Amino acid sequence: MASGRPDASRHSAREAGAIGPETRRRVALGPAGGHAYDPCVHEFSIAQALADQVRRHAPATGRVRAVQIRVGALRGLEPESLRMCWEAVTIGTPIAESVLRVDLRPWTITCPTCGGTWSSPVPFVACACGEPAPAPSGGDELDLVSLTVDDEEAQ
Ligand SMILES: [Zn+2]
Repeated sequence: MASGRPDASRHSAREAGAIGPETRRRVALGPAGGHAYDPCVHEFSIAQALADQVRRHAPATGRVRAVQIRVGALRGLEPESLRMCWEAVTIGTPIAESVLRVDLRPWTITCPTCGGTWSSPVPFVACACGEPAPAPSGGDELDLVSLTVDDEEAQ
């Protein structure tokens, strides 16, 4: 006749309510090559369109060494990622290893207070006259300016 103690009082080991402020999860971006964050999405499609255009304009003979483009400030393109994407979309094609030269046009800033106009790599700047918010304007051009083609294929 064992009158054991009620063993059922062992409460669950789970401590609900012990969740402190440390509940925010850190989201890993993964190793390089992962697709969690791809800075190239926008640039990639543009690089692809450019590559198509270059292939149409490239002469039948010779090797395209460099491609010069002009990009308006409004495009908001990152020349560095554009070049990376360029490599990616041209690899294994006749224009592989060509260099993409990006001429990124600056913003034109016009001050409504003093009437000054100047160009700037960034859109939001204060004017020297004290005007805090001069108006930025920029083009949205994306032009293929020139191709450098090497005709001397050493054979
Ligand atoms: Zn001003």
